[in-house]
Amino acid sequence: MHRTAAIVSQGDEIVIGQTLDTNSKWIAARLLDRGIVPVEHVSLPDDRAAIASTFIRLSERVDLILCSGGLGPTADDLTRFALCDAAGDTLVEDTDALAQINAWFAARGRAMNDLNKVQAQRPARAAFLPNEFGTAPGIRSRIGRCDVFCLPGPPRELVPMFVHLVAPFLQPDESRTVRVRVLHTIGLGESEIASRFRDAPGGDLMARDRSPLIGTTASNSVVSCRIRYEGPLSAHEADRLIARDESAIRALISEAIFGEDDDTLASVIVRTLRERFQTITTIESCTGGLVASQLTDIAGASEVFRTGWVTYANESKSREVGVPESLFKDSAASKAPGAVSPEVALAMAQGGLDAAQADYAIAITGIAGPSGGTPDKPVGTVYVALASRTHSPDVRRFAFIGDRSAIREWSARAALATLWLNLSDRQSVRLLRQV
Ligand code: AMP
Ligand code: MG
Repeated sequence: MHRTAAIVSQGDEIVIGQTLDTNSKWIAARLLDRGIVPVEHVSLPDDRAAIASTFIRLSERVDLILCSGGLGPTADDLTRFALCDAAGDTLVEDTDALAQINAWFAARGRAMNDLNKVQAQRPARAAFLPNEFGTAPGIRSRIGRCDVFCLPGPPRELVPMFVHLVAPFLQPDESRTVRVRVLHTIGLGESEIASRFRDAPGGDLMARDRSPLIGTTASNSVVSCRIRYEGPLSAHEADRLIARDESAIRALISEAIFGEDDDTLASVIVRTLRERFQTITTIESCTGGLVASQLTDIAGASEVFRTGWVTYANESKSREVGVPESLFKDSAASKAPGAVSPEVALAMAQGGLDAAQADYAIAITGIAGPSGGTPDKPVGTVYVALASRTHSPDVRRFAFIGDRSAIREWSARAALATLWLNLSDRQSVRLLRQV
C-alpha cells in the first residue's frame, strides 16, 4: 500500500539552480490526485553515495520513492548505481532494453554510441520501464518494503512514462481520502482574504485544526484559496464537505474569484472568449509580447487570438496602430503626455481594436527600468488600457515594485486581470498596486 511518498530530483544542475525542478511539483500533484501524500522532496547532486544514503533513509520513512534524473549515459548519471548500493543489488545488462536503445537510434538513422550501453543496465531484481521518447528506460525497484520508481529527467519523457508506467502501479490506501479544491482570485490582497475568512459567520475558516483545511497562496496578483480534505471519509463525503466550504468562501469573496483548480487567467479568458465567439488583440510595449505569449500558450487560442503587436518605439506605436504623434511631442502650447500615459495607452488600444477588427484590445505601456524613470513616472509606472466594441474604455495606472523582469510579469498579469474584469462585468474592482 502506498500511503506516503518522497520525491527525489537528481542532478547537479538542479542543486546549483541552473535547472528549475519542475518534475517534483508535477509528480507531487499527480500523487496527491490519487490520495498518496508526498511528505518530503529532496534535491541531490550527482553523488552516488549521497543518492544511495538518501534512498535508504527515505525507504525507512515512506511507502514510495519517485526519483527523476540521473539515468543518462554519462559519468554523472549515477541513479542506477546508487539504487544497487541502496537495495543491495548488482547491475545486469538487459538484452531487451539494449535492443530497444539500438532500435531508437536506428529509427533516427544513427548508430548507438558505446556510452549508451550503460542505459541497458539495471539492478538484477528491478524491472525496466520502456521509454518511447528517449534512450533512458526508467527503473522500477524495491528497497526493503518501499517501492522505488526512477524516471529520466526531461519532463517530456517523464510525464508520459509516469502516466503510462507508474500510475497503474500505484496502490493508494482506499480507506483514506485526499481531495483538494482550489479557487483563484484577483483584486483582493491575501491578508484581506484571510481576515474575511477569519471572521466568517460559521467560525474561522483558516483555523489550523479544522477539516477540511483551508489555506491561501499569493503569486503576483493572484491569490489562490485551497480547500484540502485528508482523512477517513469516503470521496463522496469529502466532496460534500469541500463543496460546503467552497460555498462559504464564494459568499465571502465572490467578486474576486475568476477560476478553479488548473484554471489560469489566460485559460479562463481564452475559454470565455471562445464561448462568446469573440476575439482579442494585444498591443504591447514594455511587456514585449508577454501577454500575447500567455494567451497563445493556451490550446484553442487560435479561435480568439489572430494578431498582436509589439510596438516598442514611439514611431511604431504611430505607424502600426495610429497613435497620434502629437501625444509624444511637446508643442508650443502644451506638454505632450508622452509614451507612458493614459492617452497613449488608450490610443494604442483603440488603434489596435480597429486595425485588428477584434472585439477586445488590450494595450500596455510602462517603464520596466532599471533606467527611464522620472519623479512623475518612476520605474514601475505602467498603464493598461482596454478598448472593446461593447464596454467603455478602461484605463488603469499601476505602480509596480521590483526589477525589470518582475515589473514586466506584473504588467502582463495586470493586463490579463483588467481584461478578465471587463469580460466578467466587474470593471469597478481595483487591482493590486493600481493607483
Ligand atoms: P538526466 O535524466 O539527469 O540526464 O536529466 C536530463 C535533463 O532533464 C536535465 O538536463 C534537465 O534539463 C532535465 N531535468 C532533470 N531533472 C529535472 C527536474 N527535476 N525538473 C525539470 N527538469 C529536469
Ligand atoms: Mg543528470
